[in-house]
Parts: sequence; structure tokens; C-alpha cells
Amino acid sequence: MQLLHLTPGLDGVSKAGNEAERGMLPEVPTICVGQPCAADPSRAPEGQSVLWLQMPEAPRHVKGDAAGEIDVPADGTWTEALREAYADRIEAILARHIDGFSESVVTRRAISPADLEGYNMNLVGGDPYGGACTLDQFFLWRPFAGSTRHGTDLKGLYHIGASTHPGPGLSGGSGFLVAKELGA
Ligand SMILES: Cc1cc2nc3c(=O)[nH]c(=O)nc-3n(C[C@H](O)[C@H](O)[C@H](O)COP(=O)(O)OP(=O)(O)OC[C@H]3O[C@@H](n4cnc5c(N)ncnc54)[C@H](O)[C@@H]3O)c2cc1C
Repeated sequence: MQLLHLTPGLDGVSKAGNEAERGMLPEVPTICVGQPCAADPSRAPEGQSVLWLQMPEAPRHVKGDAAGEIDVPADGTWTEALREAYADRIEAILARHIDGFSESVVTRRAISPADLEGYNMNLVGGDPYGGACTLDQFFLWRPFAGSTRHGTDLKGLYHIGASTHPGPGLSGGSGFLVAKELGA
């Protein structure tokens, strides 16, 4: 699947990233645009298609809207209304770039950070990478720095997944390393 990144450019990424870090809904977020049907047409009825979008910059707890347009709940939670209002912004940006976009949308399913965490408790705060993908979560800074090669204090019990070395991602690196360790 080709994953295009729609952004005004590096300054745009920097601005949106900074806004999200400060708890603001980015005014012009980077939009990752995937077209799964290009690889697997069976994912949509014939003649139709799925557009898969991911917003890499989004606050877990929302303090405000960088554009000053969307009302944010006082407690900063991702409500349904907030999610849909923000999805409207994303659609409006896409409509500026894709001829006939608004008319061609049959249905939309928006998923907020809170929804993601609801689906999978590993996605703390809606972070797709297991809660935090920061430097202090890697290598010797890991919470269990003493445990090497994914071992634990219990003999034969290994700890793998997005929260362990070499970090998150679909490559399943930690499981691969443990499998090798176990002789696979
Ligand atoms: C929207 C999105 C897009 C992504 N895009 C990419 C991408 O393009 N490229 C990439 O490399 N990575 C991507 N990722 C990240 C990647 O999916 C994760 O890093 C990876 O799935 C983590 O694997 P994992 O096995 O550690 O955890 P998970 O895949 O989260 O699996 C953990 C499983 O454990 C279950 N579980 C949790 N707690 C319990 C419990 N107490 N008891 C029983 N079961 C439990 C969960 O339900 C889940 O099924 C994306 C993630 C998301 C959410």
C-alpha cells in the first residue's frame, strides 16, 4: 500500500507536531493517506474504494484548537462530537486537494485516540506505539534495564511486544529476537 503524506512541508509538520505536543488540535495536520484497495480490491464493493487516513500529530488530552474553530470539552477528553468535528477538518483539507472529494464520500468512520485505547489497552492514550516512543523508553533506559534479551526474573518467561527492545512496529522485532534466542 502506498502511504502518501499530505502536508504543507517540513514547516507544516513542525508546526502541527508542536501544536499537538502542546495539547492543541493542529490547524493543518499532516495527513497520511493510504489506499488499501489498490493492493486488495476485495476490501470495498466493486467500483468503490477505501481511503485510510492517519493523523500522526494528535493530542491525547485536548486543551484547545490551534485554529480556534472547534469547541473542546473542559476536561480535554476526546468526545464523539470533538472527533467528528476534527474529522470534518481533515475532510475539508482533502477536498481542497482532490477534485470531487466531498461528493464521492459514501460513508466515514472516524477513530479518536480514546477509541484506539478503548480497542486495545496497549495503546495508552491512543498512542499507536504502545504509549510512548521516546528515547527514554529504549535500550538501557527501559523500565527494566536489568532484564536482558527479553528475559524476566521468571525462568522461561519472556517479555516481548511494542514496549520492549527494539521497539514498536509491525516488524515484530522483539518476538523475532526471542524466537531466535529460543532456537527457532
Ligand atoms: C492506527 C495504527 C497504525 C499503525 N501503523 C503502523 C505502520 O504503518 N507501521 C508499523 O510498523 N507500525 C504501525 N503501527 C504500530 C504497530 O501496529 C504496533 O507497534 C504493533 O502492533 C505492536 O505489536 P504488539 O504485539 O506489541 O502489540 P499489539 O499489536 O497491540 O498486540 C497486543 C495484544 O494484546 C492484547 N492485550 C493487551 N492487554 C491484554 C491483557 N491484559 N490480556 C489479554 N490481552 C491483552 C491486545 O488486545 C492486543 O491484541 C500502527 C498502529 C496503529 C494503532
